[in-house]
Amino acid sequence: MIPLTDEEKAVYEWQLWVRGFGEDGQTRLKNASALVSRVGGLGGPVALELAAAGIGRLVLAHGGDLRPSDLNRQVLMTHDWIGKPRIESAVQRLKAFNPRLEIEALPENISDANADALVAGVDIVFDCAPLFQERFAMNRACVAHRKPLVDAAMFEMEGQVTLIIPGETPCLACIYPESPPGWKRQFPVFGAVPCLAAAIAVMEGIKLLSGMGPSLAGKMLYYDTRTMRMRTLPLARRRDCAVCGET
Ligand SMILES: [Zn+2]
Repeated sequence: MIPLTDEEKAVYEWQLWVRGFGEDGQTRLKNASALVSRVGGLGGPVALELAAAGIGRLVLAHGGDLRPSDLNRQVLMTHDWIGKPRIESAVQRLKAFNPRLEIEALPENISDANADALVAGVDIVFDCAPLFQERFAMNRACVAHRKPLVDAAMFEMEGQVTLIIPGETPCLACIYPESPPGWKRQFPVFGAVPCLAAAIAVMEGIKLLSGMGPSLAGKMLYYDTRTMRMRTLPLARRRDCAVCGET
């Protein structure tokens, strides 16, 4: 593993004091890579906090151009970038924030066509896509390549996060055998709601990559910012799951 530089020790000083993390955890994070699918309301703060924590390499996939209606929640975007590719705005913001970060950016969303190659090249995956076809493609690729997957989602004032460890925990297809009916790309949401899911997802990733526990593996954390209730429930694996089941 590549050791920390003096500059990195200075930048990450405050988190090096965290019990159970230290220089060993920081070095592991520096030598780790993560794929973030979409860098919008959820994936944007995920990428930003991974960059802040000092992950070594990020692979980002997000298609399309920035629209005015993205700007209530997509914190890596800037107003002057409306009409231009979202991924470019995200890369500029992340590079300005952490110039040490290595970024590979793809101007398209996750699909069955690109998921395998992208997942194979990283240590952990953060699924921040709103559409189930993208989430299912990512889940299939993570199970095939045995890569940990942090799956985060939100709707209106609620959110949920789980950590999927292929072969050990339920996969996304165990939780959702098919797309919930009526689900679409556009839905009511405040930007702070996905930010909360993103923060929880990133802490799961940091703990996994640096060897700290316990985690949300096999459990779903649900929160509702309308009532400010948070609960964590166990998830069950489906023996007949089409993706991870025993055949
Ligand atoms: Zn499964």
